[in-house]
Amino acid sequence: MFPHLQTFNLQKWIDDNRGDWGQRRVIWQDSDFIAFVTRGPNRRKDYHINPGDEIFYQLEGELNLHYLKDDKHELAVLKAGDIFLMPKNTPHSPRRADGSWTYVVEKTRSKEETDRFIWPCEKCGTNLYATDVRFDDPGDAVNKATAALKADPKLATCKKCGAVLEL
Ligand SMILES: [Zn+2]
Repeated sequence: MFPHLQTFNLQKWIDDNRGDWGQRRVIWQDSDFIAFVTRGPNRRKDYHINPGDEIFYQLEGELNLHYLKDDKHELAVLKAGDIFLMPKNTPHSPRRADGSWTYVVEKTRSKEETDRFIWPCEKCGTNLYATDVRFDDPGDAVNKATAALKADPKLATCKKCGAVLEL
């Protein structure tokens, strides 16, 4: 993490480290905000429900930001230089190809706040699965839930329309 009250160059930091970035690197989280840079490729069918607002700023490549508004599927496509505010409690699924880099700012969660991840049917929107997690290690909870869905075809099959969620 980076110290407060000190500038650093985001682009240089990315350029110096892009070879072994992993999925995401945190800039600050010892603050009212959590700021990080995340990259593609990713492969996710979950939708994240954050109790706070999130800001996305697309640095390189393209971000396909799927979200649900009044239970209707929407897609925002962010290109390099685009910025987007995702209001709190809006289910969203950021999907990235290789070469997609995004700067994200979220609010630090309070003790009472939990995040939720849901897996809606891609055909009719019926929710197939959900998990509530503390923000501290969301990746692990999402991986476990994805593994559970993969292991049991019944879980990944929509009870309403019969479509199977490909994971
Ligand atoms: Zn369905």
